[in-house]
Amino acid sequence: MGVKDRIRELKIETRAFINGEYRNAVSGAVLKKKSSYDGRDLPEIADCAESDMDDAVAAAKKAYETGDWKNLKASERKQILLKLADLMEQHREELAMLDALETGRAYENYYNDSIPKAIEAIRYYAEAVDKYYDKAVAPQTNAFSTMVRVPLGVVGIITPWNDPMVVAAWKFTPALLMGNSVVLKPAEQSSLSVIRTAALAKEAGIPDGVFNVVPGKGEIAGKALALHMDVRGIYFTGSSEVGKLMLQYAGQSNMKKVGLECGGKSPFIVSKKCARLREAAETLAQNVYYNQGQICTASSRAIVDESIAEEFLSYLKTAAEKFVPGDPFVFENRVGCVVSRTQYDRVNSYIQLAREEGGTVWQAKTVKEKSANACAVQPTVITGLTNRARCAQEEIFGPVVVVITCKDINEALQMANDTKYGLAGAIFTDDLDEAYFGATHIDAGLVHINSWGEDEVHTPFGGVKESGLGKDRSFWAFDEYSEIKTVWMKFHTI
Ligand code: NAD
Repeated sequence: MGVKDRIRELKIETRAFINGEYRNAVSGAVLKKKSSYDGRDLPEIADCAESDMDDAVAAAKKAYETGDWKNLKASERKQILLKLADLMEQHREELAMLDALETGRAYENYYNDSIPKAIEAIRYYAEAVDKYYDKAVAPQTNAFSTMVRVPLGVVGIITPWNDPMVVAAWKFTPALLMGNSVVLKPAEQSSLSVIRTAALAKEAGIPDGVFNVVPGKGEIAGKALALHMDVRGIYFTGSSEVGKLMLQYAGQSNMKKVGLECGGKSPFIVSKKCARLREAAETLAQNVYYNQGQICTASSRAIVDESIAEEFLSYLKTAAEKFVPGDPFVFENRVGCVVSRTQYDRVNSYIQLAREEGGTVWQAKTVKEKSANACAVQPTVITGLTNRARCAQEEIFGPVVVVITCKDINEALQMANDTKYGLAGAIFTDDLDEAYFGATHIDAGLVHINSWGEDEVHTPFGGVKESGLGKDRSFWAFDEYSEIKTVWMKFHTI
């Protein structure tokens, strides 16, 4: 039986998960949407609003105050999260199918990459939490002080659609392990796998009210969560535009803690001192065309020394042909569709804009069998623009790379930082001085030298400038989802 047939047989849960139970939105409203692959109607998901969010936050607060979760030993919370990881592994195929169905991204990506990555993240944090120590001041004769991490209380999480389970797991796992209760608002385009995971979390032993999933529209359900007076931290991944709103919501409500992982326009510098040009081009193609370019760290701005640009472009175009989109439900296909018709139109409008801005547009020629309605974009290379062109400055979030030429490495670095974003960057060179200087001067949270994507859950992830603030992944994430409390004790000399 093929993936499509197996998806048809799934019993899909579409309701919110509040206080340990699935339920419809109070209003009975649902989100209606169509598949970006074949245009068919997708399952209708509960369209929750303020009152649903109030219920979820109230349940989370009550669960927090009972202490049933926060008072567990770290080693006990660890065992429960490890059980959740095991359950997700058992349901790996189902979770991958739900994500592929909703987003039109290749099922293979979810099965082989995203769902295993989410599980790996849960296991990493769970294993880390009881090996993580608080701090104490240097000994004093009559006093002693500790700096302990304490949970915040109710934590709100808002996630995007481009990698639903990975982004959710990066956030809810450290939040839960620190003892918080969580209310998660998934993206409208990709709620099903997270809704399903809520029941697995309950089965793993997470008490009712501690892990809630409330789907709905961002500007209603998401806003209600971020503005809520009983939510002590809001952790968001998504566009910079909405990320900025989170800061406003925090200011308009209770000055809650804010964590932001936002957009990017990451530079990919190729120096004339890079001998392995083909390898550089293949690396670029892999990270800008995988998942139809819907990756926040995608190096969508290549800055290439003019003396090697022609050769580099010919390798890039050859490599691009391997990433042409096909039917996302055929396991052999590594690239499916963009997430929605809206996103498809947006990406194409940027490609049109590139022509109007005076650029030259090249698209891969290979074509794979797919639905006539598929919102799939051929891998695209744009040349002939400057770094100040809109296509070079704005996040397109599609399989589109703008290749800009530079005179030398200094001009490349100046262009690399001439952007409002600062999520990631790369420099390809065989010159050690260039590599080190480049890595220290690219203004971004994550820089690769002669590589891209070798980043793992035990290393911190997060941007600077308008790409966000705070860190996901690694031990640093525990700091994000807790507060440091200083406790002084005074002793009398005996
Ligand atoms: P988006 O900003 O439109 O939506 C993200 C989430 O915010 C969704 O759940 C949405 O419902 C919610 N939202 C929208 N408006 C809201 C509002 N007014 N109040 C509260 N919540 C609101 O982003 P998207 O289109 O879902 O995702 C794509 C973006 O996410 C890209 O910019 C991409 O770069 C970014 N992203 C960043 C990272 C990272 O780690 N830096 C990872 C993945 C995606």
